[in-house]
Amino acid sequence: MANYGMAFDYKLCINCHACEVACKEENGIDLGAKNHRLWIQEETKVSGDFWNLDRDKVEFMQMQCQECQDAPCMAACPNGAIYRDNNGIVRLHKDLCDLTRACMSACPYNARYVDEKNHVTDKCIFCADTRLARGETTTACQITCPAKLRYFGNLDDPESEISKVLSSRKHFTLKPEKKTKPKLFYLE
Ligand code: SF4
Ligand code: SF4
Repeated sequence: MANYGMAFDYKLCINCHACEVACKEENGIDLGAKNHRLWIQEETKVSGDFWNLDRDKVEFMQMQCQECQDAPCMAACPNGAIYRDNNGIVRLHKDLCDLTRACMSACPYNARYVDEKNHVTDKCIFCADTRLARGETTTACQITCPAKLRYFGNLDDPESEISKVLSSRKHFTLKPEKKTKPKLFYLE
């Protein structure tokens, strides 16, 4: 049993998309599919005044399910299909999903999509059915990232790499105003 989370040293990202390809390959998602469990969001920071706008500050944000501790998707599902597993990962009882898509509408992070092969909603589950099920302790995106910016591990273990990095570096979560208490953290 663990309480898995992820941290991103997001400013190191070079936007190579290796994480996205590795995720699709590991989890059997069509390489060309527009749906994806994780994606890189390009954000241009505009600073300066009207006459001297600085648009050069492009940042790449690693986006995926934020593993909310208070998960709106779970609360919104009319069928009780969404649950949290023993590793603290928000999962889906596929046989209970009837594609009402209430979870997709409720998710503030746009993290869920329709898996057209299996006719259910899908999202990142930290490789729970693949790598974690095989006893591995890394995710495909983490192990593939050439910038080594992804930290994955047990948030309840003070000796884990992710716990150590979170205790030593400032970090933030996305959309704190939504009060979802994400378990994904972005390092300053
Ligand atoms: S990010 Fe979206 S899909 Fe993931 S747990 Fe939160 S509400 Fe659910
Ligand atoms: S593999 Fe790493 S560096 Fe490349 S896009 Fe993904 S997070 Fe960014």
